[in-house]
Amino acid sequence: MKMNQKIAVTRSSMPDFEEYVAEIRPLWESRWLTNSGEKHRELESRLRAYLGVDNVSLCVNGHLALECILEAMELKGEVITTPFTFVSTTNALIRKGLTPVFCDIDPETYTIDPACIEPLITDRTTAILGVHVYGNLCDDERIAAIARRHGLKVIYDAAHAFGVEKDGAGALSMGDASMLSFHATKVFHCIEGGAAVFRESGYYDKLTHLKNFGMTSPTELTYAGGNAKMNEFCAAMGLCNLRHIDRAIAARKRAYEQYTARLSGVNGLKLNAVAPGVKSNYAYFPVVIDPAQFGCTRDKLAERLEEQGIGARKYFYPLTSTLACLRGSKQNATPVAERISAQVLCLPLYEDLDEKTADAICDAIISISER
Ligand SMILES: *Cc1c(COP(=O)(O)O)cnc(C)c1O
Repeated sequence: MKMNQKIAVTRSSMPDFEEYVAEIRPLWESRWLTNSGEKHRELESRLRAYLGVDNVSLCVNGHLALECILEAMELKGEVITTPFTFVSTTNALIRKGLTPVFCDIDPETYTIDPACIEPLITDRTTAILGVHVYGNLCDDERIAAIARRHGLKVIYDAAHAFGVEKDGAGALSMGDASMLSFHATKVFHCIEGGAAVFRESGYYDKLTHLKNFGMTSPTELTYAGGNAKMNEFCAAMGLCNLRHIDRAIAARKRAYEQYTARLSGVNGLKLNAVAPGVKSNYAYFPVVIDPAQFGCTRDKLAERLEEQGIGARKYFYPLTSTLACLRGSKQNATPVAERISAQVLCLPLYEDLDEKTADAICDAIISISER
């Protein structure tokens, strides 16, 4: 069977057109389009309430939010991190003059494996940068204990973890700082956007200056900052989307549960489990393919789905430790990350993925496995 229309792996959630127009209409009056305007201030305050954290600073995108976090914390030397992530995480470290030291991942959550961190610590290590992959939370308790023992900072790339909670505590309360992405493809989006979240308010103040050229007043040039401010149109999109976020997550949950029900019995297909006590945001539906049992490799499955008009994404492949600029430098072996990266495939998942389409995707996967 071939789909009439190509099914993309993701599709942006959209507010009602009229709702967005009403949200941006005041900008024609005020002519205040960026530089911490009314929409920016309102979205920051609403996000503080929604996420349950005090220090949320909006940025133009998640990547620059992470670069600004590294800059605000004045980190130097080596940072222990994961190669199983979007390349942005590793690029941010390199672009801020830091050396990424790659640590292997946990085979169940795909997040940085705390058991592998300590042997990688040297006298140049200053921080641990974990990623809450697919919204699966890092083992913050063990990571925090290691960081305390060695005097390290803990930072999380929480681009996938918007609204995720564990035992009632929000994901953003973990670590010294977290980055959020509000890119069009994320669970909550501002077209493009992101945020830096800090435990300490001092960093929040500093980042607020760093994202605006490092000026602390119109006549005081304090830091050599860049420009990473969110504009009013993006903040307005965020305000609209935040009103409907519970509906968006509930719709994803429905599709996620449908996938789980239909695919959990398929041989050689490992599904992502939501950990006990975790309130998920159902951001992604990754499956890990064991080719010996499933009957074909991840690459073959992706190819066959593509032939049928179903987009699935090799997310994350390749590992970021294969970045061209790192070639020739000494790399640690990360065998689990290597295997998962070769076997993982993210299925289409978005707010308006309907039951019929999800069923057709499951049918296609099951028939490929039985071939
Ligand atoms: C989306 C994403 C980023 C980058 O965020 P942008 O807002 O697109 O700059 C970084 N890390 C991860 C894990 C992501 O998924």
